[in-house]
Amino acid sequence: MGNSFSGQSIESARRALAAQLRSAHVEEAELDARILLGAVLGLDLTGLIAQAARPLTEAEASRLTQHAQRRIAGEPVARILGTREFWGLPFRLSEATLVPRPDTETVVELALEILRERKAAQPPRIADIGTGSGAILLALLHEIPDAFGIGTDVSLTALNTARDNAAALGLGGRAAFVACSYASALRGPFDLIVSNPPYIPSAEIPTLSVEVREHDPHLALDGGNDGYDAYRALIPQASERLAPGGALIVEAGQGQARNIETLMAAAALTMDRPPKADLAGIPRAVSARKMPP
Ligand code: SAM
Ligand code: GLN
Repeated sequence: MGNSFSGQSIESARRALAAQLRSAHVEEAELDARILLGAVLGLDLTGLIAQAARPLTEAEASRLTQHAQRRIAGEPVARILGTREFWGLPFRLSEATLVPRPDTETVVELALEILRERKAAQPPRIADIGTGSGAILLALLHEIPDAFGIGTDVSLTALNTARDNAAALGLGGRAAFVACSYASALRGPFDLIVSNPPYIPSAEIPTLSVEVREHDPHLALDGGNDGYDAYRALIPQASERLAPGGALIVEAGQGQARNIETLMAAAALTMDRPPKADLAGIPRAVSARKMPP
């Protein structure tokens, strides 16, 4: 495509980029164009509007061309920029971390609802199983100023990214990160265990969008033959590590909530509310409690 933005004003570059993305069938062409242009120029939306007539420098035009080529080839904006907002907080990404999804904010919302009902005086002890970028754990620690939490992952690269995110968000003193399978190295007890485990059935992975299948780590997606391998492993582990009255909250893939509740009941956990739906109405966050003996 060459350096097609050379000599253009900010506004005409924005339009040209949106048109290129649209014709490449990028779903959110307008939005992606604005974000990529804003990132290259270091401007937010207001800045892009205020400086609409200013011409791009050669360096900016060539940077934008590189971003455009990557987006057209199917790389998500979050990967191109190496960062993604979750719960209003910035998270750095690495090749080992899933891009945190807006749907996963449902898990954070339900966790905060459940913690608000808690009567105990001590701050909650939280574990996040398969923490990835640290998104869920760090959002919770940000909301609950005196809480302490541990994130686990089998990917050391992901754990390093999560640790860096904790430090950058000023939460490093209240977050620890441990390499292990699910909760196996943790002892507990925890007042809250959260997890967004891999839950896509292996055979469905090749059918996912190029953004997901070629750019999210398969370790973060692949839930085995039927999609439930991770739930089968982690739910009993979590049950053993919950304090009496403590809650487990997991993210569910579409259509999985009912089977997850069955696995929770089989691990001696008690359902005390229906799953919480995401913005599309899909039951997304499934919770259960450990009842006092
Ligand atoms: N919690 C992050 C989020 O919501 O954005 C990441 C979720 S991603 C769907 C699942 C995470 O589980 C990945 O970071 C992956 O590396 C991790 N994982 C996969 N198998 C695991 C295992 N056996 N034990 C611990 N973590 C695992
Ligand atoms: N929600 C992600 C997707 O649909 C999958 C993440 C997961 O397996 N937990 O691509």
